[in-house]
Amino acid sequence: KPERVAKPKWLRVKLPTGKKYTDLRSLVDKYSLNTICTSGSCPNMGECWSEGTATFMILGNVCTRSCGFCGVKTGRPEQVDWEEPEKVARSIKLMDIKHAVITSVDRDDIKDMGTIIWAETVQAIRRMNPNTTLETLIPDFQGREDLLDRIVQVAPEVVSHNMETVKRLTREVRIQAKYERSLGVLKYLKESGIKRTKSGIMLGLGETEEEVIQTLKDLREVNLDIVTIGQYLQPSKKHLPVKQFITPDQFQKYEKIGLEMGFRHVESGALVRSSYKAQKHLT
Ligand code: SF4
Ligand code: SF4
Repeated sequence: KPERVAKPKWLRVKLPTGKKYTDLRSLVDKYSLNTICTSGSCPNMGECWSEGTATFMILGNVCTRSCGFCGVKTGRPEQVDWEEPEKVARSIKLMDIKHAVITSVDRDDIKDMGTIIWAETVQAIRRMNPNTTLETLIPDFQGREDLLDRIVQVAPEVVSHNMETVKRLTREVRIQAKYERSLGVLKYLKESGIKRTKSGIMLGLGETEEEVIQTLKDLREVNLDIVTIGQYLQPSKKHLPVKQFITPDQFQKYEKIGLEMGFRHVESGALVRSSYKAQKHLT
């Protein structure tokens, strides 16, 4: 039986408070709005919501993939809801969101892999919320450029795609994905004129410092603008175990290294999630 590593004190979080937070919380509950912030019980809710940032998940909550770190259910996803773009746009208006992050499960089961809904969602949000800025955190769409073009055409301010881990651990951590393919997606997005590209990795899965630095180098090679680095936490006992808790000093070290490499923004810390402080990444 693998030994459990005790959670260090820097991972304990304060419960979110504040009027903006409680107002939003009651809206989300009343209208059953689907945010990752609440469904994933994100530790940053207080901070993000008071700044007007939230993350919405589209295309259902069942995924065709089965990444070893991810708490989303795997299976046969439900039918596409063509009303969804309007619903998400309305939620954003209701919540008065200034900067919205949109993400989705992977829909390898449908021909367009969900890209039509993706594009329509961005367009509906723009129509209903002309002052809201957008980040789309997208799947790899199996690296297909014709599908990535649908995202490029609606021009979100930031487009992100997470590497999640270093090259050596990619097979174990996200079985249906490929390290090089994900890098290729980020490269293609930048070359197609996306203003800000972004990616994230989680630490504590058994990677070495050298491998983390190599990943950062690979991301700079494809002209990535923004990188987020956080601590992996196991969503349940069935998921990959935490091999190591990275210390605050080590996170700071990566931040410094990243900034020296020339990234525009590096968010590095135990509680950093890919949409943490997302609004900042517009600049
Ligand atoms: Fe929501 Fe992301 Fe902020 Fe967490 S980090 S509260 S998921 S916007
Ligand atoms: Fe989770 Fe995304 Fe992997 Fe699906 S593709 S299991 S949503 S990380």
